[in-house]
Amino acid sequence: MRYQLFCDYLERLEGTSKRLEITKILVELITRLDEREVAAGVYLSLGYLNPPYNQLKFNMADKMVVRALAQAFGLTQSFVEASYGTSGDLGSVAKTLAEKAKKTKPVSITEMHRELVKLAKDVGTGSQERKVKLLAGTLGNLDPLSAKYTVRIVLGTTRLGFTEQTFIDALSNIVAGDKSASLKIEEKYNIHPDIGMITRCVKKGGLKGLDEVQIETGIPVLSQKAQRLSEPAEIVGKVGGIAWVEYKLDGTRVQLHIDRNKPNMDTFIAQNELFDFNKDKILAKTFTRTLEENTHQFPDIIESALRQIKAQSIILDGEAIGYDPKTGKYIPFQDTIQRKRKHDVGEYAKQIPMKYIVFDILFLNGKALTGMPLTKRHALLEQSLIEGGEIEIAQHIATSNPTKLWQHFELAKAKNLEGVIIKNPDAGYRAGAREFNWIKLKKSNTDLLEDTIDCVVLGYYLGRGSRVNFGIGGFLCGIWDPDKQRYVTLTKVGTGLRDEEWIELKQRCDKIKLNKPATNIEVAKALIPDVVTKPKIVVELGGDEITISKTHTSGFALRFPRLITFRSDKPPTETTSPKEILTLHKLARKGS
Ligand code: ATP
Repeated sequence: MRYQLFCDYLERLEGTSKRLEITKILVELITRLDEREVAAGVYLSLGYLNPPYNQLKFNMADKMVVRALAQAFGLTQSFVEASYGTSGDLGSVAKTLAEKAKKTKPVSITEMHRELVKLAKDVGTGSQERKVKLLAGTLGNLDPLSAKYTVRIVLGTTRLGFTEQTFIDALSNIVAGDKSASLKIEEKYNIHPDIGMITRCVKKGGLKGLDEVQIETGIPVLSQKAQRLSEPAEIVGKVGGIAWVEYKLDGTRVQLHIDRNKPNMDTFIAQNELFDFNKDKILAKTFTRTLEENTHQFPDIIESALRQIKAQSIILDGEAIGYDPKTGKYIPFQDTIQRKRKHDVGEYAKQIPMKYIVFDILFLNGKALTGMPLTKRHALLEQSLIEGGEIEIAQHIATSNPTKLWQHFELAKAKNLEGVIIKNPDAGYRAGAREFNWIKLKKSNTDLLEDTIDCVVLGYYLGRGSRVNFGIGGFLCGIWDPDKQRYVTLTKVGTGLRDEEWIELKQRCDKIKLNKPATNIEVAKALIPDVVTKPKIVVELGGDEITISKTHTSGFALRFPRLITFRSDKPPTETTSPKEILTLHKLARKGS
């Protein structure tokens, strides 16, 4: 397909916020793209170059794109900057400039994808200059719409209001004529989250084509999540028999992949002197629950894994948590995330060593174990791990007695842990699902609500009173509604941040500001923030109460919200769901 035609589709998609219409356009687009180019088309329309776990980043700031546009169209930078100042969107500036230049060199979507991959891959000394030149060369030959969307893809501002889930619905429409096959396709996406590949398989062989989509080492599986309940008797009732009760550790979720027969595709490990194993032959990677690779943060865990794991290939799920080497006590997430700073990980590993507490095994020696009951998986996990290192297996008690469950929860609290997770020992591992096979029981000590709420920041309001100097006085928070495939609003936060947190939040928001709310955000006019942002920054809020609201588009409002922490480990589509908000609202009413 010609890239120009592809961009016509993007323009049509931008012109509507109706879900059915978007799905219809995507169906048409997928149908017209041929098998070899369809993955590239899917990625580009979602604003990326390859699946999220392999994400190539352009690393081009607005300023570099301004320079590229000036070079492409023989203009001064100040002229381009002035146009940017007026329109607030470099994509539109590119379009206007290309309209005047009237050049159109035909290029296919595959060629364009290749070109953009080249642009993203150029790193190191002198790469900034080369990137500007390369982008200028590309933009100077494009028709107006292609220039507009290329700039937006490079800057990460495509904001077309649909997600991988919309593609899943579109694929279901193609094979079944309606949404009835979505669940089946989604299950495959959950174990192999590459929507480009999934689309190609469906195009090739319909639903049967999905047979080749399997769990693989090196590709993260979506993490299973927990439902929440607060009554031990109700929890035991839901599990319906003996339940396994594990401590809920306050660390960070880590999925570990080891494959002794796969070359390591990761240059990070190959270059890092912290790793002294056979670098070329062994795949060893860790992933966050947002599917990002974070192997660089866990040199000590990788080292232990290679000593403690006997299997040829394995995928483990667990929690990485720092501990004090003197006392052996766990250190909470807030303190351990400092290891995120890439450069002094080695130093930090000495100060705060990490343990990896494994609670599940998803794959062993070439076979997926997700369909097996937890009891069987656990037995295999025990057989696969040699004791004596940073990797340990999570302990549990097995009980159907609500009092025993509550006592274990109290014990967890006494140990300063978050609470407990109750698991159904007969259930399989349900990638990406939040069901009652896993139930979390936790209580916050400081807030009146049963649990904290994860929200996404949708923009901020300018400062008033004492914070006028910061230029930020409050911010709007929303949650992702998976049924509507939209962000809906829940609360305005104006307190609870330290001065430096206000400053940090403003800086982070300014980097992702938009000139109007994205099409997949439902917000009442009166609540539209002064500065609107891309839904990206996830925050954890505490609060007093959840009430019914006529103003907030979620239908609920969180009263007296306060910021607890930034949740950089969560994607914006994994905020607390409207259903969970309803549960919290009901729980609170029951409690009072
Ligand atoms: P929270 O904010 O309560 O951690 P969440 O939305 O981040 O919730 P959930 O899926 O609801 O995540 O809760 C499960 C999380 O708890 C997991 O993602 C994991 O990081 C953590 N966890 C700690 N200990 C365990 C355990 N034994 N089994 C499963 N998850 C655990």
